[in-house]
Amino acid sequence: MASFRKRHPANVPGVFFVDRTCIDCGACEWLAPETFADLNGLSRVTRQPANEKEHLRAIISLLSCPVGAIGSRSTQDFSLAVKNLPEQIDDDVLYCGYHSSKSYGAASYLIVRPQGNILVDSPRFAKPLVKRIEELGGIAWMFLTHKDDVAEHERFHRHFGCRRILHEADLTEDTCNVEILLKGDALQSPLPDVRIVPVSGHTAGSCCLLWKDTFLFTGDHLSWDPKKQALTAARATCWYDWSEQIRSMKRLSGLRFEWVLPGHGVRCHLPSFHMAQEMEKLTDHMASL
Ligand code: SF4
Repeated sequence: MASFRKRHPANVPGVFFVDRTCIDCGACEWLAPETFADLNGLSRVTRQPANEKEHLRAIISLLSCPVGAIGSRSTQDFSLAVKNLPEQIDDDVLYCGYHSSKSYGAASYLIVRPQGNILVDSPRFAKPLVKRIEELGGIAWMFLTHKDDVAEHERFHRHFGCRRILHEADLTEDTCNVEILLKGDALQSPLPDVRIVPVSGHTAGSCCLLWKDTFLFTGDHLSWDPKKQALTAARATCWYDWSEQIRSMKRLSGLRFEWVLPGHGVRCHLPSFHMAQEMEKLTDHMASL
């Protein structure tokens, strides 16, 4: 729970505030950009919500903050925000909210499909979210993009009985019991309508999941830079091998997709031809760094 005494001095006055426990995961800044922004590595309230829509985005941010750093000075009604999570992105793809501090606040997603839903990376095991996922048909599979964003995978596995998918190069003591291990760097389809692309680089076993040739779930391999209006990959957080990450990015460039849905960073939606151009620009840029 956020503490008003620990609030960031740069917050504008008003109902919502961010305290100094913020870990700068960036989630609130893309969830409610009209309200939150980064200042020297800490998020703060730059403008109080001015209408119902902005107010709802602020409440969703408050619920989703992995460390409870967002506070409100008055009692809030959370029911609408709780009902809105998971939140539809497009078609049957939903954003879960409720980020976990165990994955440094990474975003997670739910793919709703008749053959069984797929959870992409692990949100917090929050009761309201679990209940909503039950109402949406539960979880049959859990795809883990890489070892950093597994968070509460075990609790989701135990509760929903979902089978977990992870690349063997990213196995740790915590994930040694996952059910399906991916191997090598070839494109693979553990489920008929799902393609998984190993994208070694950020970690040795990072993978992306491609669904319907439209939605690419990228973990920490690839995201969107809203300031530069360009795709981006972060060299500063490349924990394994930058040259590998460039090679993986080139492999990914050969695929058709419209959405980039990252763990950390901002998502983007572009026509596939435009996305292909952006991917080409990014691989050239990465090679120049
Ligand atoms: S969601 Fe929470 S931890 Fe993440 S940037 Fe916002 S205030 Fe900080």
